[in-house]
Amino acid sequence: MDIREAREALKLYFGYEQFRPMQEQIITHVLQGRDVVVLMPTGGGKSVCYQVPAVVKPGICVVVSPLIALMKDQVEALLANGIPAAYLNSSQGAEEQRQIESQCVAGKMKLLYVSPEKLLSPGFFSFLKHIKVSLFAVDEAHCISAWGHDFRPEYTQLKVLKQQFPQVPVIALTATADRLTQKDIQEQLYLQDPKVFVASFDRPNINLTVKPGQNRFNKITDFLERHHKQPGIIYCLSRKATESLAAKLKSNGFSATFYHAGMSPQERAKAQEAFLRDNVQIVCATIAFGMGIDKSNVRWVIHYNLPKNIESYYQEIGRAGRDGANSEALLFYSFADVMNLRSMLTEGEKGQQELQLVKLDRMQQYAEASICRRRILLQYFGETMEKDCGNCDICRNPPTTFDGTVIVQKALSAIARTQEQANMGLLIDVLRGSRNSQVLSAGFDKIKTYGAGRDVSTMDWQRYLHQMLNAGLIDLAYDQNYTLKLTEQSKQVLFDGRRVNLVKFEEVKQQEEPQIKA
Ligand code: ADP
Ligand code: ZN
Repeated sequence: MDIREAREALKLYFGYEQFRPMQEQIITHVLQGRDVVVLMPTGGGKSVCYQVPAVVKPGICVVVSPLIALMKDQVEALLANGIPAAYLNSSQGAEEQRQIESQCVAGKMKLLYVSPEKLLSPGFFSFLKHIKVSLFAVDEAHCISAWGHDFRPEYTQLKVLKQQFPQVPVIALTATADRLTQKDIQEQLYLQDPKVFVASFDRPNINLTVKPGQNRFNKITDFLERHHKQPGIIYCLSRKATESLAAKLKSNGFSATFYHAGMSPQERAKAQEAFLRDNVQIVCATIAFGMGIDKSNVRWVIHYNLPKNIESYYQEIGRAGRDGANSEALLFYSFADVMNLRSMLTEGEKGQQELQLVKLDRMQQYAEASICRRRILLQYFGETMEKDCGNCDICRNPPTTFDGTVIVQKALSAIARTQEQANMGLLIDVLRGSRNSQVLSAGFDKIKTYGAGRDVSTMDWQRYLHQMLNAGLIDLAYDQNYTLKLTEQSKQVLFDGRRVNLVKFEEVKQQEEPQIKA
């Protein structure tokens, strides 16, 4: 069995003329019976890497996937291509499961999708021993790693695959993996001398832009005017926000719907279908939307709120431009979103909290960056770019910097004189000489720097303070009511004459967009 046979199967069953370069190498290894790890971005063409071997190898390829909704789509697509396939999961009755199992035993099946729960359920291994398993494919393999963004404890038990079936090759696939996750996948699945394939995660056709979160609704309608009738997704943080944003867009004459996990399966299927068929232009969705959605002409993805981490962000924007045509990713960023996410994270499980917070920090730094954004994203996945991308807002419009030493000194001095007891909002009020009750009751109107930063807008103060945070010139004490603290570096600026450059910003309107919140 060689790659020529696989090429024929690709053409016959999938209708593609040739493999993408990495697919061919991967499949060659799988056909040789080697264990393989595939790190390939969404849309890269991972499915073919196990579906084609499944077709040409004798026996059944067992695919472990955590996404039950996705299994159904995949199986339907395979059946439509004339490949016998089925799935087994908790959504089915016993009789249906028995029928599928007997088809497998009779050798009438090429691919069998199972959830990890099903795979690990009593009796399932003895069933597997009755059929000829040609290959195990572990999809969404990053779920195995506690370092990843989608840890699923049941995945850590998948090592039994190698223990029970040492002869059967395993292909592990994921669209997102940093080095730690990669290592976890290999170790925890007990892969034997696996060959690791890392595709470039670069999606050069996706333009990257970050905009401040003020007036987001107006910014979105402006954006939509420029993307007349082009399909796109707006990711929101809450279910309620998806609904209210869709309603607002509709009342402004746009074609929009919403999608979230709180809807009935029928409602969800309806929204998804409408989008796939181009009957609706815009889906306002929570992160529940998009897994396995194979729509190649999504022209843009907007993040109404900052995502929790770079992995999720990259996966979500990766749903745009799968056809390779120019597409846009627009991210709205506000400090309020960060606070919001932070409080959501601190409700979570203790062990994971710190990690999640660090990941959120990285996301925030991305949003605030003043260097090529694609560089930052790819670096995050361990890929170094030779040169700047030329297709992000920073590359197109490099920030001009200026000597901001005086501004930084004013902020630092205000922090010192408020005994490091002010959070960002209060500090800005002090700097701008606001007479609000919090300032007055703390007696901060009596300190020397009170009102010293009146000439700088609230918005610009926020941005300067973020730059200072990123540069380590100040610190933000999450555990002390988010008060700002001085650092070693602050002292260099205050006492040792260190000078600091700041990035200049365009003028932005001060008017606040009413927040759409749950
Ligand atoms: P992933 O699972 O990595 O997100 P998919 O397997 O869903 O990617 O493939 C993404 C898209 O690319 C699908 O529309 C698929 O049909 C298409 N595709 C995959 N391999 C090829 C190929 N060799 N030639 C042309 N199109 C391909
Ligand atoms: Zn760039």
